[in-house]
Amino acid sequence: MRYKTLGKCPYCDDGKIEVRKIEVDAKPLKLYACSNAHWKFEFDMCELADDATCSFRIFQNQFLRWNKKAISENEIRTVLAEQQVKVRLYSARAKKEYFKWAVLDQEYGLSIVWDVDIDEEEKE
Ligand SMILES: [Zn+2]
Repeated sequence: MRYKTLGKCPYCDDGKIEVRKIEVDAKPLKLYACSNAHWKFEFDMCELADDATCSFRIFQNQFLRWNKKAISENEIRTVLAEQQVKVRLYSARAKKEYFKWAVLDQEYGLSIVWDVDIDEEEKE
């Protein structure tokens, strides 16, 4: 099976970041994963397969707890090319959206840079 690719893997030599469709809790979800990364999915368990040489992946919904429903393919393209991407999050308590940088993270895929504030006027 061939997947759509979004860019070069930042953590291995020949890997490309692919868009894969998986199911979590019976809901379709995109997983952005290195072509050298393979997992066995079983229920909620996700285990790296024996033939995997890279484990880099980003779950489409991994910022859900900050009320970002999905990380888009364009956001992945941007972070692969520029090492950072501006993401829009939403504070339920303050009832307003705010922006943060997200950067590549070998362990978590993407992580949010909490100590840097982005002015809303700067948004593109
Ligand atoms: Zn890789």
